[in-house]
Amino acid sequence: MSESFCRLDRRVAIVTGGARGIGAAVSRELAAAGATVCVNYRSGRETAEALAEEVGGIALQADVSEPAAAAKLITDAEESLGPLSILVNNAGITRDTLIARMSDEEWNEVINTNLNGMFHTCRAVARGMMKRRSGSIVNLTSVVGIHGNAGQTNYAASKAGIIGFTKSLARELGSRGVRVNAVAPGYISTELTDVLPDEAKDAVLQSTPLARLGDPSDIAGPVRFLCSDEARFVTGDVFLVDGGLGM
Ligand code: NDP
Repeated sequence: MSESFCRLDRRVAIVTGGARGIGAAVSRELAAAGATVCVNYRSGRETAEALAEEVGGIALQADVSEPAAAAKLITDAEESLGPLSILVNNAGITRDTLIARMSDEEWNEVINTNLNGMFHTCRAVARGMMKRRSGSIVNLTSVVGIHGNAGQTNYAASKAGIIGFTKSLARELGSRGVRVNAVAPGYISTELTDVLPDEAKDAVLQSTPLARLGDPSDIAGPVRFLCSDEARFVTGDVFLVDGGLGM
């Protein structure tokens, strides 16, 4: 592989929820590729600051589900690091339960964080990226947004929404040199999935042709690719990274 393959030198990137799980692996990978990274966090300040120091970037607190906070996050990141050329919308939560028991709060929290949060940050970076005629946005969706999953109507709706949003924004910004793609992970071992019962994990394993659960680093490489010039003709794509689970 050429040493320049998927390099991101002189790029400024922001990763929402970038301090742990998949987000942390993405923050590390983008930094290793040469990007200067802003690690966004909501509650995990110490972890975010330690990671920012490790990767030579900065950590910024913001709850992306809040429109004003998300807009300020983008402004503050650009004031500190310069114009953003990469946005990775990774922040996400689950509030799993069957529909008959799902509260308004469980529905709204998931939609507000996963779907509205992505809208807020995309809106905040769009004008600048269009003006500069360059940029790459990568949104984390899920195989659940494609195939659905009992007990996750709220999460599946948010992740399916991300796919429609990604394709629409790709059409809107493509002629301005801005690419927008989604990555759909399968089952990745993180704090998000550690809470699932062993039977559920076994069932996923049985349905995964590569016969293992994913690691956050399995997602980071594909995200790096989509951010790089090697993906210059890729937009509106939903890149399944799931060991074959969702095919
Ligand atoms: P984790 O629970 O490990 O991490 C979630 C991250 O999101 C944390 O860094 C958290 O920050 C951040 N976050 C949550 N809410 C907000 C908010 N309102 N504003 C800013 N940041 C927020 O999750 P994963 O790493 O497993 O998941 C990352 C993404 O990948 C999610 O979008 C998830 O839906 C998706 N995904 C994960 C899969 C998996 O199997 N793990 C499968 C498919 C998709 P803090 O800690 O500071 O609160």
